Amino acid sequence: MVRAIVGANWGDEGKGKITDMLAKESDIIIRFQGGSNAGHTIINEYGKFALHLLPSGVFYSHTTSIIGNGVALNIPYLVNELQSLVDRGVPKPRILVSDRAQILMPYHVLFDTYEEARLAGKSFGSTKSGIAPFYSDKYAKIGFQVSELFDEETLKEKVNRVCELKNVMLEHLYHQPKIDPAELLNTLHEYRDMIAPYVCDVSAYLAEAIREGKNILLEGQLGSLKDPDHGIYPMVTSSSTLAAFGAIGAGIPPYEIKNITAVVKAYSSAVGAGAFVSEIFGDEADELRRRGGDGGEFGATTGRPRRMGWFDAVATRYGCRIQGATEAVLTVLDVLGYLDELPVCVGYEIDGVVTKDFPTTVKLEKAKPVYVKLPGWKCEIRGIKNYEDLPENCRNYIEFIEKEIGTPITMVSNGPGRDEIIYRNR
Ligand code: GDP
Repeated sequence: MVRAIVGANWGDEGKGKITDMLAKESDIIIRFQGGSNAGHTIINEYGKFALHLLPSGVFYSHTTSIIGNGVALNIPYLVNELQSLVDRGVPKPRILVSDRAQILMPYHVLFDTYEEARLAGKSFGSTKSGIAPFYSDKYAKIGFQVSELFDEETLKEKVNRVCELKNVMLEHLYHQPKIDPAELLNTLHEYRDMIAPYVCDVSAYLAEAIREGKNILLEGQLGSLKDPDHGIYPMVTSSSTLAAFGAIGAGIPPYEIKNITAVVKAYSSAVGAGAFVSEIFGDEADELRRRGGDGGEFGATTGRPRRMGWFDAVATRYGCRIQGATEAVLTVLDVLGYLDELPVCVGYEIDGVVTKDFPTTVKLEKAKPVYVKLPGWKCEIRGIKNYEDLPENCRNYIEFIEKEIGTPITMVSNGPGRDEIIYRNR
């Protein structure tokens, strides 16, 4: 059985925790897109971890963790992240890396940084991990596949060819030092030796695993609204964040993805630029940011304060639909126990017309939130294990959201820990 765990919002919904939790009953966990630009925060018996590139299943010794072909593979980053787990007492995880994954090159990080500087105030809020230049090169067909590291002649020829192009841009657009092809070739030899133990024909491996009936998790990064096609373009990420892309980024048949678990956050948060209709500001935002997540809403990769907002049912219903969610998990609900009332954005007013349909970006920029206010429950809900034991107003909030988003909420997360989960309808 293949299950995808994906974000229904702007990312940071708590996918890491849910993946870590569900990985207990899984055999294989796969990252299928993105790179080291987003972080998943996980708290378990080994401590608190912010994973950036490794799948969130690495803490169990019975699982195999896979970096799929759709990922932007930063090889030294992967090796360091693995080592940092081992250094903290986590048993060395079993890792496989697709021979078709492409390599995030040192110059991708540089180009990301230079381009953000060039755009100055008009930047996209990149994490400067090289992700946008990486995917640009992949689709411009000047990327380096892992398999190419093992063919010296192809590699050398390509390094020279790509450097020629990159150096024109470095010299004339960014006025920065040029790349030395010999040095780059050396770096790639080092990368080859680092990654060699993990390289695998992943789609063949997964075909066999599916045949054997293994439990497989596809772990998404970011969320629906950051998808390059269906999100808030151009304030999006550079690879698809949707469950459907899991088939491509892992190399499995699309019809094998039976279960699509959309992770939905009980309030809104976003990083980077772009329209954010239910955004809140000032003291109201500061308080939610301080109380949010586990120890505050600050980026796991960058430490940047996240933008905060009330729950946006318009964006989330769209987010669930575009994911094809078969179920939703509502996370970080415990954080909201301090509020007297909880505004929920149930419509967008655009040019005087109220809609419940999530619009394209040009219209989104003009949207104003239409709120319904629900009464708060004013108490701590951490520690509660049964749905019926939640305060009535809390259940009303969950059920109101469930109706608005049109997706069954099967789990409610009421704390960052692995066991802090309430199952429903099971
Ligand atoms: P991801 O990228 O979707 O995995 O999300 P992040 O890890 O960036 O953000 C989620 C944050 O919320 C992390 O700090 C988690 O430890 C924390 N978290 C996850 N679920 C819950 C929850 O139910 N309650 C609280 N208080 N924190 C949670």
